[in-house]
Amino acid sequence: METILLLTHSEADGSLPKAALEALTAAKTLGGSVTAAVFGGDVDAAAKTLAAAGVAKVLTASGDAFAQPRYATDAAAAAALAKGAGAQIVVAPATSRMARVAAGVAQRLGGRIDTHVTQLVNEGGPAIVRWYYKQRIEATQRRKERPWVLLVDPGAYPAARATGGAAPIEKVEVAPPASRTTVTGVKAPTSGEQTIKPDAKLLFVAGAGWTKKQADGKPNPEKAEKLILGFIRASGASLGSSKSLVDQAGEGQKVFEFMSHLNQVGQTGSTPRHPKGLAACCHGEEPHVVGWRFIRERRAVNLDPNCGWARGKADVLYVADAFVVMEKVNALLGAK
Ligand SMILES: Cc1cc2nc3c(=O)[nH]c(=O)nc-3n(C[C@H](O)[C@H](O)[C@H](O)COP(=O)(O)OP(=O)(O)OC[C@H]3O[C@@H](n4cnc5c(N)ncnc54)[C@H](O)[C@@H]3O)c2cc1C
Repeated sequence: METILLLTHSEADGSLPKAALEALTAAKTLGGSVTAAVFGGDVDAAAKTLAAAGVAKVLTASGDAFAQPRYATDAAAAAALAKGAGAQIVVAPATSRMARVAAGVAQRLGGRIDTHVTQLVNEGGPAIVRWYYKQRIEATQRRKERPWVLLVDPGAYPAARATGGAAPIEKVEVAPPASRTTVTGVKAPTSGEQTIKPDAKLLFVAGAGWTKKQADGKPNPEKAEKLILGFIRASGASLGSSKSLVDQAGEGQKVFEFMSHLNQVGQTGSTPRHPKGLAACCHGEEPHVVGWRFIRERRAVNLDPNCGWARGKADVLYVADAFVVMEKVNALLGAK
């Protein structure tokens, strides 16, 4: 059996990213024993969580030099841990921090990498499942080259739980490489609140209809903004958007401050994994709905009974004015 390693960084507070526990579940499906490795500024809580989650042992690399996400130091720590474990299969969560260095780590190990892995299977040897062409084609792949680094997409597996074990924790000394990069702060693309919540049970998609002329002959984007934000805050839903709505910035039209292209769902946007979705003022065209591939229960509110959602793309279409519907929904949520 090949040596399987779960490789991750810790969060700033020393805990584990949820995606790391999901990747651990994925690694365990291969059937062999799994070693875990974690790097970061503070790794104590993360290492303890892993040690209790049914792994054979936990390797750590920590210190101030590894606190900031930075290519040179992250790649050095990750490569040293993978070498220390003698890993043939390296399973890592596709957090932005791991995704940035994983290809370089594979190169340093003389191995290969595959990304966007959604399933690991053992078919007489490890194999991966991933999607191509915007989630339209599913492929199962194997590779002969080792080490094989695999980035597992978040949301594809349930998080591993503590099973009560207490695997040994071993510190690996990694000399931090010379680095010219100092992280001075974070600049997020939107100045407003965080509207993208991958763990939310509901995805709420806003379409361009929110900014279009309404029955009274005028657009009412201020009211739309109030209704959308009111619903997002009261329900805890994650906010998605159609391309038309987020593209309006370039067209000089009203733009919602709390939205950016990161909210866009669809062929040229994201493919989120929420159990339920509700679209309002969005037409439901194919390039948009292809991003709903993993949304299992779908509903939409649209004035047009012939919109795309009516053509088999939603389970329920409410033919109604979304301004009226969402005002009522927000009032009901507020009364709760
Ligand atoms: C190569 C390519 C890639 C693309 N990729 C993407 C992508 O990734 N994501 C994406 O979203 N699109 C994508 N598109 C664009 C896509 O085809 C559509 O143009 C876009 O999704 C339309 O956005 P919309 O439904 O918000 O706007 P519109 O088509 O303008 O629809 C607005 C809807 O709002 C409804 N409406 C208006 N007022 C109300 C009201 N008061 N109550 C209820 N309903 C109301 C209208 O009936 C209408 O159906 C792509 C297109 C191409 C060619």
